[in-house]
Amino acid sequence: MQAIIVIDYSYDFVATDGALTTGVAGQRIEKSLVEEVKKFHDQGDFVVFAMDLHEKKDKYHPEIKLFPHHNLKDSQGRQLFGSLKILYDEIKGNDNVYFMDKRRYSAFSGTDLDIRLRERGITEITLVGVCTDICVLHTAVDAYNLGYKINIPQEAVASFDPKGHQFALNHFSNTLGANVY
Ligand code: ZN
Repeated sequence: MQAIIVIDYSYDFVATDGALTTGVAGQRIEKSLVEEVKKFHDQGDFVVFAMDLHEKKDKYHPEIKLFPHHNLKDSQGRQLFGSLKILYDEIKGNDNVYFMDKRRYSAFSGTDLDIRLRERGITEITLVGVCTDICVLHTAVDAYNLGYKINIPQEAVASFDPKGHQFALNHFSNTLGANVY
């Protein structure tokens, strides 16, 4: 069994009027991303939705100083975007689907993701979502340090920053030994 980890593909990060949007870049990957998720799900692989979670009054959070409010608890902005939400509504509740909150860039930071993967004997993960050079990158670095084999379909990751996107793709393959395809 493998896992696909869908990172931060929310309204706030993708919709044109999202609070911290990747805009057209994020919208462009919708079809490929949803196809990847569906493929893994139908194969019986483990499908993880790792979603940023913030609270307006969380004055201790370092992102408060860096970004406008985004992905606030119970907000519309934190909903999955577009056809990914439709797919999620169809598959949620299945044994191999797991929706998890995260408070930091990496889906491994302060979460039970590593143990969820290990108890299933999973050693190989595929990362999709946004932003290539922030949350996908930090998740990939942690995955590398934990010994996972990493796959990144480049048509299913995006960033608001084209230079950062390209840097991260190079870093995945040249430094983290990921399979970027
Ligand atoms: Zn955040």
